[in-house]
Amino acid sequence: MLSEYEAVIGLEVHIQLKTDSKIFCGCSTAFGGEPNIRVCPVCLGMPGVLPKINKRAVEFTIKMVLATAGTVHQESIFARKNYFYPDLPKGYQISQYEFPIATGGAVIIKNKDGEQKRIRLSRIHLEEEAGKLFHDTDDRCSYIDLNRCGIPLVEIVTEPDLRSSEEAYLFLSKIKQIAEYLDICTGNMEEGAIRCDINISVKSKGDKNYGTRREIKNMNSLKFIKRAIDYERDSQIQIIKSGGNISQETMLWDEKVGVTKLMRTKEESEDYRYFPEPDLMRLEITPEWIERVRKTLPELPDEKYRRFIRQYGIPAYDVGVLTSSRNLADYFEVVALVSKQPKLASNWVMVELMREIKETDISRIKVRPENLGTLITMIAMGKISSRSAKDVFAEMVRTGRNAEEIVKAEGLKQISDKAKIEKVVKLVLDNNRVSVRKYLRGKEGLFGFFFGQVMRETNGRAEPGLVNKILMDELNKRRGQ
Ligand code: ADP
Ligand code: ZN
Ligand code: MG
Repeated sequence: MLSEYEAVIGLEVHIQLKTDSKIFCGCSTAFGGEPNIRVCPVCLGMPGVLPKINKRAVEFTIKMVLATAGTVHQESIFARKNYFYPDLPKGYQISQYEFPIATGGAVIIKNKDGEQKRIRLSRIHLEEEAGKLFHDTDDRCSYIDLNRCGIPLVEIVTEPDLRSSEEAYLFLSKIKQIAEYLDICTGNMEEGAIRCDINISVKSKGDKNYGTRREIKNMNSLKFIKRAIDYERDSQIQIIKSGGNISQETMLWDEKVGVTKLMRTKEESEDYRYFPEPDLMRLEITPEWIERVRKTLPELPDEKYRRFIRQYGIPAYDVGVLTSSRNLADYFEVVALVSKQPKLASNWVMVELMREIKETDISRIKVRPENLGTLITMIAMGKISSRSAKDVFAEMVRTGRNAEEIVKAEGLKQISDKAKIEKVVKLVLDNNRVSVRKYLRGKEGLFGFFFGQVMRETNGRAEPGLVNKILMDELNKRRGQ
């Protein structure tokens, strides 16, 4: 099937902005806690109230536009999108329609093989979040939490440039990464901070024209998004192959059953009767304001990626992992600069550190990056063995103490004293006379066994290079005896 047909996908991504207050009132945007406590007449849409735009929300939107190379329009207009649904107390959502804050721009995605693809954006606009319904709490009714009403949302709409669930996944991951770098969103998908609607159609591979699309609403898990797209693609192909037609419909993903289900048809689809919001003035964004925001932009993921490759000379794979989150990248840089050992630093951060942190949240780890840097310096200078370093690291994770202190207190310093190692080597060989004879008669594999015994006797603290040499010398001596 997939050799003949391919999916055509466009996404509408919603990103909750992490401003302190909501978009049109002073209520807090905090997550969780008691329902319906962070509300006021404005976000509940009481008659006679006046919304007031949150400047910060506009600035966050501008950041996103600049980070994706779009055009910020000097004038944009808020519009009422009218529909009835219980999570929308006003009966309309304040959004933008004909005149969004921005149009154009693109996001570059990169697959596992490093191939790049440019996904064009059609628009970015600002709107307000609705409340949250709970249907599973009670058999007889649904519950509603309006705390979420009025949290600012940035909506990013792509051109239909995506061709697979993998590309959609890469795109969303990239948007999430950019938002995290810009520090405009928590990025917490489980809390619904990033969600998307998926528009998908299928066509024969050679065909230039697109088919009719269906839309899957409100997805908030990267894993489910992949599954939903693949399922929907396959079912559309089935329909077309058996002579049917796709009609423009809105679907919902049922994760329990693993299918998309019809939510509404084109005929039932709402007419939102958009009109300009009369309670808000048009939004004016001056070039000076844009320039001021531009100056606050951090180094973005692609730039950081290129700089890490250049500056640290570590493999592209490492750089991809290390720059996946800004915090992780910052952490790595301190480790690399303190230790002056970029590749070792990268290994330690990617293996030992990342094992300790849940996903990429390193704010909770007790190990200061400069302390990890010192630990790596000690390894590089032969002051401790890599094996003891792992014990030291475990202690650092537990207590947050620095490496030197732990090494001193625990006596973990590497043994580089020739005489000491010689003593242990002799002891080991004396205790294993039979094996030594076998070795001398040609069973050379036993060398590793002797080596391991010496390391064990020294609790892994003997300098491996020295052990190797001394062991070899001592065995040769015995050959002569
Ligand atoms: P509408 O105004 O009806 O919502 P838009 O032009 O805004 O339609 O498109 C909504 C989304 O659907 C965009 O992300 C766009 O890329 C995508 N899209 C448009 N046509 C198709 C198609 N034939 N197949 C898949 N996606 C499409
Ligand atoms: Zn409010
Ligand atoms: Mg649309």
